[in-house]
Amino acid sequence: MIANVGFNMETKLAEIHVQGEWRWPTLWVERFPVLANLRHIVLNANSRDKLVWKTRVGRQVEFSTTSVWDDVRTTQNEVQWAKVVWFSQAIPRHSFIMWLIVNKKLKTQDIMRTWNSSGNANFNLMCCSLCTSGPDSHEHLFFECGYASDVWNGVKQKADVGTTPNQWHAIFDYLLGIANSKKITHVIVKLLMSTAAYFVWDERNRRLFATKRRNKTQLVDVILSTVRLKLQTMKFKSSLQME
Ligand SMILES: [Zn+2]
Repeated sequence: MIANVGFNMETKLAEIHVQGEWRWPTLWVERFPVLANLRHIVLNANSRDKLVWKTRVGRQVEFSTTSVWDDVRTTQNEVQWAKVVWFSQAIPRHSFIMWLIVNKKLKTQDIMRTWNSSGNANFNLMCCSLCTSGPDSHEHLFFECGYASDVWNGVKQKADVGTTPNQWHAIFDYLLGIANSKKITHVIVKLLMSTAAYFVWDERNRRLFATKRRNKTQLVDVILSTVRLKLQTMKFKSSLQME
């Protein structure tokens, strides 16, 4: 809008407020009627223009994308699981899948079945593409499914998850307990977990929508090598505890 009326970021307030009058572009006044009622100001020739942002509570702060975004967004208290999903070493596409899993928002077959009000037989025939034992669900895929459970067992040998059973609620509870930990072993557990979940979901989809399939050992290898690569590129800051 600034460029459309011929202004640029160098335009001065003095070009809009001339001889004691506001000279707003007509287009702007039509769009923002409030401009027509702005009080008059006295410009001091010796002051420089500066960009400020007036917050919702009327405070003037220095203009920055951060201050504006913080002001216009709706903020809520941080959820308990925030650091399970998002942490500085996380792999973004894995975090995205974890976010969906935590909120039970993946389009799993148990959810798709409930859409089937017509009793369509194809919906009833849906079964987990990894083990073919029944429809998949969040609980099934992470990691009660025979295939997924073997994959997670292969992966978790490398991580210190104690005796946590392969059930989502137990794993999730465990992750909540270490969510804010800076210990490198805990960061690795979170990385392994989100990477395993990502690749199990990826393999499930590949089998449904493509013909290529990887066996359990191959999937464990992909997960471990992805995490290994991530660890190699990570800078170990002094904030991480190397234990
Ligand atoms: Zn299965």
